[in-house]
Amino acid sequence: MDVNHSIKEWLPARAKTLIIAGPCSVESEAQMLETAEGIAATGMASALRGGVWKPRTKPGSFEGIGVPALEWLKNAGDKVNLPVMTEVANALHVEEALKADIDMLWIGARTTVNPFYVQEIADALRGVDIPVWVKNPIHPEVGLWLGAMERLNSTGIQKIGAIHRGFYSYQSSPFRNEPKWELSFELRRLAPDIPIICDPSHIAGKQELIKEVCQSSLDLGMDGFIIETHCNPSKALSDARQQITPTHLQEIVNSLETRADLLDDERFIARLEELRNEIDKLDHRLLDVLRERVDIVESISDVKTRNQVKIFQMKRWFKILENREAYARELGLDTEIVHELFQLIHKYSIDIQIKAQQGQKDFTS
Ligand code: PEP
Ligand code: MN
Repeated sequence: MDVNHSIKEWLPARAKTLIIAGPCSVESEAQMLETAEGIAATGMASALRGGVWKPRTKPGSFEGIGVPALEWLKNAGDKVNLPVMTEVANALHVEEALKADIDMLWIGARTTVNPFYVQEIADALRGVDIPVWVKNPIHPEVGLWLGAMERLNSTGIQKIGAIHRGFYSYQSSPFRNEPKWELSFELRRLAPDIPIICDPSHIAGKQELIKEVCQSSLDLGMDGFIIETHCNPSKALSDARQQITPTHLQEIVNSLETRADLLDDERFIARLEELRNEIDKLDHRLLDVLRERVDIVESISDVKTRNQVKIFQMKRWFKILENREAYARELGLDTEIVHELFQLIHKYSIDIQIKAQQGQKDFTS
């Protein structure tokens, strides 16, 4: 992608990291202005956010004020001298946002999943030099996230940023959206020039968890935050549990620890190197074991095929999970991680067996 990656120039940080703050939704002129003034008083934010068209999971919830709120957002930004950004989900939104002179746009998680809408937005932005932030899709698929950015880039948008807002998960979790940090590492690998900021509000889903998510994302090398901030969170018309006051925002940012990328100290480097060598050796052992396991899977596959037995044996699978989790617990390992690991290993076995059986069919037919 041909992008302008010097985010430090198009949106300089004013605190220890880049901070965009503002309410989930722009609810009234007074709420937007009071929130903007509170945020500006912290001196930490580089831009204001505010949702005007709200994609809600269920009908009947507050769906945003729409066009009139664009002016409230822009006026609040002008008043405190900060650029403003809002969410767009179709070409009409883009047209209205541009008319209202909104400075930056973001594409929400529910829109990133839909290439038709993303393309429509990209087409509506042809020839416009405006920064666009793309939230990760609801489900963990890096291809769609990157694809959305590529669509924007191919119509000429060069200031592109990514927002990591976590992923829907059906498993119970303290988070509203599972962070799955590994997906932004993958995005980083595929598009190293794209800045990635974290949206701790939609990951945490509740005020109490925001600080922890901020610290993790900072430790993982993210380029900043977009944090839902409201002058009176308990009265917010959307996402009340996760919005924080400007004062709370300031406290959280002040409490964050910034850690060095790496130390120059020779003893530190030598020790790290030594430990990494150990890890490399262990990883090779893990792969050797996996290789052995695959050999056995191939034999099992043979036996099943010859005896015309179904590949997937539900009872056996439940037993494996139960047994591996129990052993993991005994070893003091995280059982959820071990559960996921075995889901992957088991998927690999099933794939091998399916391929083998299909090969057999081709041979006999
Ligand atoms: C939002 O930022 O208010 C929002 C709706 O976010 P997401 O698209 O991440 O759910
Ligand atoms: Mn929200």
